[in-house]
Amino acid sequence: MNSEEVKDREIFRDSVSTVTKEGKRKFIYPKKPSGKFYTARTVVSYFLLAFLFIAPFIKLNGHPFIILNFLERKFIIFGIPFGPHDFYLLALAIITLIVSVFLFTVVWGRLFCGWICPQTIFMEMLFRKIEYLIEGDFQKQLKLKISPMNWEKFLKRTLKHVIFFALSFIISNFFLAYIIGVDQLLKIVTDPPSQHLAGLTAMIIFSLVFYWIYSSFREQVCTFVCPYGRLQGVLLDQNSVVIAYDYKRGEPRGKIRKNIEQNLGDCIDCRLCVDVCPTGIDIRNGTQLECVNCTACIDACDDVMLKVKRPKGLIRYASKNEIETGKRKILTPRAIGYSVVLILLVSITVYLLGTRSDFDLNILRTPGLLFQEQPDGKISNLYDLKIVNKTFNPMKAKLKLMNKDGEIKLIGIAADQTGENFYVEPQEVLQTKFLVIFSKRNVNRLKTPIQIGMMSNGKLIKVVNTSFFGKAE
Ligand code: SF4
Ligand code: SF4
Repeated sequence: MNSEEVKDREIFRDSVSTVTKEGKRKFIYPKKPSGKFYTARTVVSYFLLAFLFIAPFIKLNGHPFIILNFLERKFIIFGIPFGPHDFYLLALAIITLIVSVFLFTVVWGRLFCGWICPQTIFMEMLFRKIEYLIEGDFQKQLKLKISPMNWEKFLKRTLKHVIFFALSFIISNFFLAYIIGVDQLLKIVTDPPSQHLAGLTAMIIFSLVFYWIYSSFREQVCTFVCPYGRLQGVLLDQNSVVIAYDYKRGEPRGKIRKNIEQNLGDCIDCRLCVDVCPTGIDIRNGTQLECVNCTACIDACDDVMLKVKRPKGLIRYASKNEIETGKRKILTPRAIGYSVVLILLVSITVYLLGTRSDFDLNILRTPGLLFQEQPDGKISNLYDLKIVNKTFNPMKAKLKLMNKDGEIKLIGIAADQTGENFYVEPQEVLQTKFLVIFSKRNVNRLKTPIQIGMMSNGKLIKVVNTSFFGKAE
């Protein structure tokens, strides 16, 4: 290799594949991929897309299957409602998710980006496929780009952008359905626009953002915006399994020349792995932040190897150490450390989820008050009551003194005709006060331990230990 060739090979180190020398955006027109990985990814993607588009319509006992309402902090996950009172669970779930992402990335690299990430799925499996369908493969797209405006170009471009916007509108509607629920979304769509100005504005903004991302911004999301992508530099190590070029087998690369003896590696320098890359990089330069592990280069190279009758897998899932030594090592100290923390976190989360009750009850004697003398020779203490109903059903509740004869008088809420039962609405927090009243002869100590139970639909669901202040006789 002469010095010019070496310089050419090293240029990737101080340039970005999607930026020209003048600093302008360079659009990538990747060759249409095909092969066993692409087929498998298509199947996985369609399965995930089907779930994404069907899940908002699924209802369990008349309630949504999934709602992720971050604005009002209300979530329904697999039919189980979670609210602000479950904040500790949410925090734990987020920490567990982050550690599992770290672990997964340390061991398997950016598998998530290539196979599961919604950005990759929408871009490569929906928008890109439509683009190939309308404008043809990359060479035709490039030709169309540089051709002067004519009817064919005008019609193809218009059709593409109309479909792109329509798809973006549909996707934004579904995203909104995950936040506000499909019933509320249908209301926004069917009611007069003046009644849902905020919802309609959100819908239009979401649609425009999606349209801009998939028609123009594209792979820049993965290379410049996505925080997970930026983290790769610190998460990956030499044992992480990534999409890698086997330079030991492939180098020195060079084109096959018939009837000339060559001392070359298996890479025939056809550059098909570069042509198919949606982020415009050359995987032969090693692992790069831009690589979203989409597998397109594996398929392209395997196809070439088949044609030149060499073994497949010149580009494959492998770690750097594996390429160097021929051995894969998954259980590194780092992966073991993350696994231990992850197992702990998952166990705690599962335990807390398993023992999570449908109701929360909190009773505290109102601070700063001792006791009150009642006109009929009785004495009372004032208590603060907080009940959280985490279910979808109204809760019929009743407070009961468990270890002493006395009376409970609710303040500020309406009881039913029995004067004892009251209702806590579904997913609501009820906060009020109540009096515990004893006749004086029952209270002969300064501080009497008492137990207050909460009954729901005739069943005792929780007992709270507290105290009653009286007069020492
Ligand atoms: S597709 Fe394979 S053979 Fe062709 S340039 Fe890439 S690595 Fe080399
Ligand atoms: S280098 Fe290969 S796996 Fe990485 S983004 Fe490009 S085509 Fe996909």
